[in-house]
Amino acid sequence: MMSSVSSPSAIAPTAVKTQSHRDLWLEILKIIEKEVIRTQFVTWFRDTAILGRDGGNLIIGLPLPMGLNWHMEHYRGVTLTAAKECDETIENIVYKVDGSLKDNPERTIDLLVQFQDPKKRKLPNKQEVKMTEGLISKILNPRYNLENFIVGGSNRLAQAACQAVANQPGGKYNPLFLYGGVGLGKTHLLQATGNAILKNNPSSSVVYTTSEDFTNQVVEAIRTQKMDKIRQRYRLVDILIIDDVQFLANKERTQEEFFHTFNTLYEERKQVIISADRPPQELDLEDRLISRFERGMIADVSAPDYETRLAILVEKAKAYQLFIDMNVLQFIAEHTTRNIRELEGILMQAVAQYELEQSMPTIKSIAEIMRKLNKDPNFEDEDVGFEKPKKRRPTFQEVIEAVSRYYSVSVNDMIGPIRKHEILIPRQISMILGKKHLNLSYVSIGEVFSGRDHTTVMNAVSKIEDKMQNDHNLLREVHALEKELGLV
Ligand code: ADP
Ligand code: MG
Repeated sequence: MMSSVSSPSAIAPTAVKTQSHRDLWLEILKIIEKEVIRTQFVTWFRDTAILGRDGGNLIIGLPLPMGLNWHMEHYRGVTLTAAKECDETIENIVYKVDGSLKDNPERTIDLLVQFQDPKKRKLPNKQEVKMTEGLISKILNPRYNLENFIVGGSNRLAQAACQAVANQPGGKYNPLFLYGGVGLGKTHLLQATGNAILKNNPSSSVVYTTSEDFTNQVVEAIRTQKMDKIRQRYRLVDILIIDDVQFLANKERTQEEFFHTFNTLYEERKQVIISADRPPQELDLEDRLISRFERGMIADVSAPDYETRLAILVEKAKAYQLFIDMNVLQFIAEHTTRNIRELEGILMQAVAQYELEQSMPTIKSIAEIMRKLNKDPNFEDEDVGFEKPKKRRPTFQEVIEAVSRYYSVSVNDMIGPIRKHEILIPRQISMILGKKHLNLSYVSIGEVFSGRDHTTVMNAVSKIEDKMQNDHNLLREVHALEKELGLV
């Protein structure tokens, strides 16, 4: 329904209008927030605002062009429903990109202030949870799960073993020992298994710790003479996950404690999951501990192949809601081979760059990032669109000048008629350089040299060629000049 009468907000002063838009948007966001996963809500609705009304259209401003498709595909429905709830005259949502919304707190709403994370409120910045008195587990990162772990030849066995353990903790694969180099997914798998076990059985007591934290606990318990207590507590655990046990090397007392805890849990058919950077027999630990590890299931994670790397990148890009061109992801996968953390690192740099410069990552921009991070990637400059430093071909005049400087003779003498030996060589060198590198004809070279005949030039060139064959110093000098002039 069209109305010829302006709405009150349309004739109100701008500041008031902005304020009422803000209020309305806040109301709408409060409804949307309940419908959208928090991380996505915070990501996609940051720096958004109502720009205005146009009849039944509510115009929503987005700070980045990247958000346009995403909003239209994913949030248009919820936004419209929420908007209608607040103002039933709204019939449609229209999006517009407005770069000035970025970091403009007067026009936008600070989501982190207005919509505080309920989980954060309970556990301010805590990385740990106290299970019971004396028993501490690191919080399992919910980002790590078995579903978003990409399986390839490099980690198939490890993933399958984790899945089996998640389905039946304390079963066949006990203990489960994962090993492999840094950044290849051990921590991800360990925590994902813990998460899966908790999902299947929320009341089970899952403790995830690193060997460093375990050591610290033991040291502290010895200091306060509470080792007995800790020992008893650990025995109540259902699932014990210890990451990076290689760091237990040389810590005899901690190893001993771990050995006893391990035995108790093992005998009670409680699941133990361990990771290390190398297989058990190569660990610098007590033999009895190593032989315990060897009793169970041992699986390695190794560096992923190209297809797995690419699949991981696609998955990560999706998780971060990045619209990166497939060619760009392929390029990263091709040139980042060491580990997955590095892959992610480059992806994150790309996001940062995107946010700063508001431009989509390209092969060239990614290549620049890799160069900066000094990853020594093996791509050719031309392949990624880097311009080769332009080597402009010098003019003949410049060649003659360079030769004159090199031999400290004047240009006039070189091109003039003088036939002294010290002039002869530089003159001949200029000629051969002009012929060889600038493709000049004998005739045109002769013209530059005071109208000498082309046969004279031919002779001069062949003479100097002969000389260079036998005179190493001369050869070196000519090379130096060629280099200086950028001819080689
Ligand atoms: P490690 O503990 O072996 O050093 P991490 O588990 O910390 O390695 O892995 C490094 C990063 O790579 C993590 O962000 C993890 O999510 C990711 N990652 C590793 N392997 C995979 C995989 N197969 N699929 C998805 N993400 C992976
Ligand atoms: Mg790790």
